[in-house]
Formats: sequence, C-alpha cells, structure tokens
Amino acid sequence: MIIVMKSHASPADIANVVRMVEALDYRAHVITGVERTVVACVGEERGEAHSLTHLESVAGVERVMPVLRTFKLASREVRPEGSIIEVGGVAIGGPRITVIAGPCAVESRLQVEGAADAVKAAGAHLMRGGAYKPRTSPYSFQGMEGEGITLLEHAGRRVGLPVVTEIMDAHDIELVAEHSDMLQVGARNAQNFALLRALGRIRKPILLKRGMSTRIEEFLMAAEYILSEGNPNVVLCERGIRTFETATRNTLDLNAVPLLKEWTHLPVVVDPSHGTGLWSLVTPMALAAVAAGADGLLIEVHPDPRAALSDGPQQLTPASFKALMAALKPVAEAVGRRI
Ligand code: PEP
Ligand code: MN
Repeated sequence: MIIVMKSHASPADIANVVRMVEALDYRAHVITGVERTVVACVGEERGEAHSLTHLESVAGVERVMPVLRTFKLASREVRPEGSIIEVGGVAIGGPRITVIAGPCAVESRLQVEGAADAVKAAGAHLMRGGAYKPRTSPYSFQGMEGEGITLLEHAGRRVGLPVVTEIMDAHDIELVAEHSDMLQVGARNAQNFALLRALGRIRKPILLKRGMSTRIEEFLMAAEYILSEGNPNVVLCERGIRTFETATRNTLDLNAVPLLKEWTHLPVVVDPSHGTGLWSLVTPMALAAVAAGADGLLIEVHPDPRAALSDGPQQLTPASFKALMAALKPVAEAVGRRI
C-alpha cells in the first residue's frame, strides 16, 4: 500500500504516519517527491486488524491506495515524476543523457589511465572498469581485483570522473564501496538475492544489470530486493538477453526501455556493448536506445581493443567513442534531451 500525503503535510504528520504504519508491523519507506511525500508500506497484509485504509482519516493523509504491481518500491506509482540518482555529483535520470564509459576490465595502470584520458576527452560523465570479472571460464583473466580497484579510482580521480565497478561477492562490498562511486551488479548476479540484500544495506548507488534470461518483471523484483532493504539509489541497465539468435552476442531488448519507463521511476541505462557483442553495432544501438528514452548509456572503450584481455570484439577505440558522442547530440536533442 502507499499512503499519499497532502502537499502541505508537515514533518510531524509524516513522522506520525510512519509510527502508525510501523505499529502495524509494516516497513515504512518515506519517498519525498517534488510535489508531495509518499509513505510506501511493505509487509504482509494479515486481515482487517492490519489494514492501513483507516489511516485515510489521519492528519496530513490524502489517500491510501494499493500498489497493484508485484514490485512496490520500484513502481512508478510511488514517484510519478521519476527518480534522479546522484553518483559522485553526477545525476542519472534527469534531462541529460549520462554516459558511462571505460574498458571492460582494468588490465594495467597504463591501460586504465589511457582509457580515462580518452573517455574524459570525448565527454563521458562517469568512468567504468571491472576489477572483479565474472568470466565464463575459470581459466580466463579474472580481473586485477583489489589492485584494479585502486588503479581505477586513481584514473577516475585524475581526470575528474566518478567511477563504476562490478561487485561479485558481498564480502568485498566495504572495500569496493570505499574506493568507487557506484557498484555494478552484473548480469550473472542479477538474481543473487543475498548480494542484492547486502547492497540494500549500503547507500552507494547500484547499477543493476538485467540478467541474461530475466523477464522485465523479475528485473524489477531484483531492484526491489535492494530498495526494500533501504537503499533507494538504484539504476537499471538493459544489456541484452539470450535468444535463439547467435549472430550477435545477445539481443538488445529495446522494448524494455519504454516499458521500464512506464512501470518504474528508476532511471534506465542501456549497454549496447554487451547487448550486441560487436563494436560496429554499438553506435547505431546507442542512438536507438536514446531515441527509445534511455536515461544513459554504458559503453566499453579500450585504448587498444585488439589487445583487450576480455570483450575485445565489442570495445570501441577512443576515436570511435568520440564519433559516437558526436552522433548522440542531435538524437538526444530530437527527443528533448541533451548530452
Ligand atoms: C561488464 O559490464 O563488463 C559485464 C560483465 O557485463 P554483464 O554483466 O552485462 O555481462
Ligand atoms: Mn565486458
């Protein structure tokens, strides 16, 4: 259920409603919107005695209404105007398209510094790079781990870009959160509920990727795991799903973008690098994603993709990334956004 407060409800009215909701054994999440505050109540509804509808007569309450969807805190009903998530001072979800760029993996100081210079010069807003890599084979490069986190942090700091990196194990959360601005949950961990819950207990922004066989509703339920533990800073990332098609690495599901924008207030970023697996398709699909309403893009960029230790075929060169950024501008403007 959500309790919509009147636009002039006082902080004391809101605190009183939270107290009453908690006394009925629900968890109350106060969501402060532009127009009004909403108290989202999650928990089991166990008959009349636990009913929240009588709160409609409490001071400051406008109405009490059920959230009809299976996901609650992620539902657009609780924040119709959409969420803007701050990542190290950079907003994701506003009128501007936010571009996250960098190599698939941090491979060396030279490589990550070169990538930082390239993505900064082309106008990216955030830098990425994996230090803990979820690889299909245990014999493939697994990432530079803690050392990679430090190299990424320094590279981002030097060029003035906040950094995003993947988290695979709940035991590493403290270390990774201390040295980065946003934690990515990869496709392979999209339904690792223990990890999602643990990430719900911090306040660092989370970039939650869609699992390769996760339906849109399941994707939002994964976000709900993080939100329900108290971390409201979640950004969704469509990165392609597995279909019968093998010509491309994945099938980038652009249907998901406008549908997610209808169903949830959370910002939506698109990753055409993993979505296609082929560098030559990255720019056209990035443009299509922005036209479809994406709030941001995640693009893999490597100083020398042919020498990359992971995902070489899909990474853009610095020159191709620069061209992509230039091509984005008119498309963003055509749909009322900017870059
Ligand atoms: C990545 O971002 O490098 C990555 C491993 O992505 P995904 O989890 O989408 O495969
Ligand atoms: Mn990758």
